[in-house]
Formats: sequence, C-alpha cells, structure tokens
Amino acid sequence: MIIILLGPPGAGKGTQAARIMAEHGLVQLSTGDMLRAAVAAGTEVGKKAKEFMNSGKLVTDEIVIGIIADRIEEDDCKQGFLLDGFPRTVAQAEALDALLKEKDLKVDAVVEMKVDDESLVDRITGRYTCAECNQGYHDTNLKPQKAGVCDSCGSTNFTRRADDNRETVVSRLATYHTQTAPLLPFYSKQGVLRTVDGMADIDDVAVQINDVLNKL
Ligand code: ADP
Ligand code: ADP
Ligand code: ZN
Repeated sequence: MIIILLGPPGAGKGTQAARIMAEHGLVQLSTGDMLRAAVAAGTEVGKKAKEFMNSGKLVTDEIVIGIIADRIEEDDCKQGFLLDGFPRTVAQAEALDALLKEKDLKVDAVVEMKVDDESLVDRITGRYTCAECNQGYHDTNLKPQKAGVCDSCGSTNFTRRADDNRETVVSRLATYHTQTAPLLPFYSKQGVLRTVDGMADIDDVAVQINDVLNKL
C-alpha cells in the first residue's frame, strides 16, 4: 500500500504517521525528518537545504525527489510506505507517479488532513519532540504522562525545531497554500483523495484515517 498524508505544517501528519506505522506495518517516509538529519550531519544535501528550511521555503524539487527516489529502493519499502511531507509540489507528485510507474505501482490513497490556519500556529509553536526517540509532544495538547520524561523511552532530553517559530510558520503556511494545495485537485482527478477532519482530537483523527485505510 502506498499512502500519502497531505496537510499543512502542524496538521498532525507526523503524529498520525507514527500510529499508522505501528498498526498497519507501513514504513514512514518523512522528507522533513530526512532533511533535518542531513542538516545535522552536514552533508551536501544538508548544506543546500538548511537556508530554505530556516526561512520556511521549500527545498528544491530536485533534492527531495532524489532523496525519495533512493529511499524507496530500500528493502523496507517493498511492502509499501507512508509518505509524510512529500510530495509538496505538483512537480514532485508527477515525479513520484513516474517513479512508481516504473515499478508497476501507484498511489493508493491521499489522506488530506484539514485544519484551520489559526490552530496550526498554536500547534507548531507548542510542538516539541524527544531528542532520543523522536516521539512528538505538545505544550498543552499532548504532554508526557510524567512531566519532563518521554513516555516512549524515558529520556529527559527534548528538542524544538529551529523553524517552529511564529515568523517562519507564517511563511510555511503561505508556501503550503500556494505550492502544495494544488495537489488537492491533482489527486482528486486521480480519484484517490480522501479528506479527514484534522481539527478533531488525536484519537479521533486516527479512527477516521483507519476507516479510510481499511476500505482500501
Ligand atoms: P505535522 O507533521 O503535520 O507538521 P505534527 O504531527 O508534528 O504535525 O503535529 C503538530 C503538533 O500538534 C504536535 O505538537 C502534536 O502533538 C500536535 N497535534 C497533532 N495532532 C493534533 C490534534 N488532532 N489535536 C491537537 N494537537 C495535535
Ligand atoms: P511540517 O510538516 O511541519 O511543515 P516538515 O518536517 O515536513 O514540516 O518540513 C520541514 C521543512 O523541510 C519544510 O518547511 C521544507 O523547507 C522542507 N521540506 C520537507 N519536505 C519537503 C518537500 N517534499 N519539498 C520541499 N521541501 C521540503
Ligand atoms: Zn523518547
């Protein structure tokens, strides 16, 4: 199964991807996570990507398409995968279709997570993650059970993303509306677009997404 989670920054893609991975045994491919790892490691890709990311702009299609093209060749992608944060432009979506066609595959479903812009600012500025295991949290919406201790791994080390600040969020939302929203009609025409209410609470969104996946 090849699934795309599509939604603005802060919509809950990463949060739901982690659950879907656990329940449906699909590997999560997050271009944002891969790019942040490249920046942290100081690779050529990371050096090129850093400024785009910090200013809330998209990294070039060429770079991210290259990353995905390599990644889907790996063994753990053979049973299908869940794309989180890719594609983000029509050019990326077309490139993905072409890559999949070579393997006689296609996108099975695109799950659009709809969330109001006002809520997104709050979600992003309150977001933090465990520095050890990458488990996601939120200052008010999703706190660890024991304050300051990761539920999943027990670490007391947490981190916030450099681009999760108010100024960059405004730029990222504008980027979403101009460059990524055109994917909605693109996938609607292919008959694979499904929309869920991303304003609902985390468990409820998971139920909605499971409904979509179980019908495929
Ligand atoms: P994305 O991957 O789409 O950018 P995340 O999954 O990182 O978004 O979610 C952004 C923030 O909002 C995180 O701090 C997360 O805990 C919180 N969050 C995710 N889904 C919900 C929800 N349905 N309701 C409230 N907060 C949520
Ligand atoms: P969010 O879902 O919160 O917007 P991501 O982690 O998906 O964040 O992406 C963080 C940043 O990484 C983006 O603002 C952009 O600069 C870059 N990025 C991630 N995925 C892509 C992509 N498919 N195309 C171009 N840039 C990307
Ligand atoms: Zn952890």
